[in-house]
Amino acid sequence: MAETTFYNLVENLETYLEYQRDEGVQRLEVDRAVLTALAKEPEAVPVPPGELAGVEAAPIPSEFKSLEEITAHVSACRNCPLCQTRTNTVPGEGNADAPDIMFIGEGPGADEDAQGRPFVGKAGQLLTKMIDAMGYSREEVFIANVVKCRPPNNRTPLPEEMEACLPYLWQQVGLIKPRVIVGLGATAIKGLLGKTAGITRLRGTWQEYGGIRLMPTFHPSYLLRDPSKKKEVWQDLQLVLKELGKEPPPRKK
Ligand code: SF4
Repeated sequence: MAETTFYNLVENLETYLEYQRDEGVQRLEVDRAVLTALAKEPEAVPVPPGELAGVEAAPIPSEFKSLEEITAHVSACRNCPLCQTRTNTVPGEGNADAPDIMFIGEGPGADEDAQGRPFVGKAGQLLTKMIDAMGYSREEVFIANVVKCRPPNNRTPLPEEMEACLPYLWQQVGLIKPRVIVGLGATAIKGLLGKTAGITRLRGTWQEYGGIRLMPTFHPSYLLRDPSKKKEVWQDLQLVLKELGKEPPPRKK
């Protein structure tokens, strides 16, 4: 069973409400006790400061020459409060030589923080299956996140943390030059595109990041909590394959 934290719960609820709104639902009955419990939770879960107090910020160079330079800079980066609680930085990995696809999620979780590698926990295993179903291996695509350090308690990265970290991703995309980007989940899409429209509205529609076509879809961790959405994700990934001029391989038995 997937781990559920308060932050997972809120993200799930947000996506569910967006879905209902997009389906035309205008009124919902909510138990007052639920609202009271949600309102109290921030006191119970410590949220780190969203400001740079005590953190030594340094400018991120505007022109890295290589991915190795970015990785080295990220490993010493103290540009946002996430540096205070990380074990390892997670810059990303995979085929950096103009791969067909670059997958971008919101940030590392506990397993990724421990190993310094992106998408290696349960959600990562599901992403690996999705990549496999498209006819690729993990080594043939590039996998990265908007923030390179784990937010405590797997909470959603704050807007200022994403803003501080995005110059790395922007330059990674510029050096890697993927043909297509797949944006995973509501938070990554908000960070990348700055759009207020929800993921249920944007998924399945082509967007653009750095001059590269970007397909938003649900995050694999959301699929672990709601497997019924796998069908919609597969539709989005098929659009990506079509854009690349490829067919999905025959299903393994
Ligand atoms: S999340 Fe990004 S900006 Fe913040 S400390 Fe880590 S590498 Fe630096």
